[in-house]
Amino acid sequence: MIRLQGVSKTVTSGDRPLTILQQTDLFIPSGQFVAVMGPSGSGKSTLLGLIAGLDAPTTGTIEIDGTDITKLGEDDLAKLRGSKIGFVFQFFHLIPSLTAYENVLVPMEIAGRRDAPRRAAGCLVEIGLEARGHHYPSQLSGGEQQRVAIARALSNDPPILLADEPTGNLDAANGRHIMELLDAIHRRGVTVVLATHDAELATHADVRLIMRDGRIQEALKKSEVGSLKSEVSAAAAAAPD
Ligand code: ADP
Ligand code: MG
Repeated sequence: MIRLQGVSKTVTSGDRPLTILQQTDLFIPSGQFVAVMGPSGSGKSTLLGLIAGLDAPTTGTIEIDGTDITKLGEDDLAKLRGSKIGFVFQFFHLIPSLTAYENVLVPMEIAGRRDAPRRAAGCLVEIGLEARGHHYPSQLSGGEQQRVAIARALSNDPPILLADEPTGNLDAANGRHIMELLDAIHRRGVTVVLATHDAELATHADVRLIMRDGRIQEALKKSEVGSLKSEVSAAAAAAPD
């Protein structure tokens, strides 16, 4: 589970403070699929980066499965991140000098898993790229690179997957493929937090959070179908890119 209490983020912009995430309380139970929506600049990446421990909040506490990550030192934080959280980026962020197989292997080697080679091969099967393991990222399409990035994020079996606009750089067909993977990952019990501009993709989520100006303006459950349709189109209209 993920629990934020009184979390905010203030950065220095020029020479003055700028609050890019207002005081936020949020609880995401284990196994939930949450879509974080909102226009560009509304704070989606800031929120995901804080949950992932990639960035430290200015105020508040962030609990991942009962551990307050804001109290952890760098080593413990890295360890927790390695075991609990997978992160998928819009621009894949694969290591260009390593093959697809080696990219998937890296987090498991860091974690010291003895079954790493076998698991890496299994992860490539799961994303349908078992024949491409020896290829370098530059030899793969964007959609394929993103699938490898998902396999890498899941290689240590983390209970939480955070995906920051994972389809934002892909065409519609590849985007659908990535969403099918995220759905399958959610079905097997992984907590998924997906930042997306795409109202259609957000329909896959149990809950959607609508962000605006650094705050969660609204939280909508999937069951709220009536209000949801108009909200989705409103959010889509507000997020042209
Ligand atoms: P989103 O992912 O929804 O597009 P972000 O979380 O990336 O939004 O950014 C929210 C706002 O915070 C934006 O206006 C962005 O320019 C600003 N911002 C993010 N990080 C920094 C930073 N380190 N310094 C200054 N401004 C930042
Ligand atoms: Mg962003």
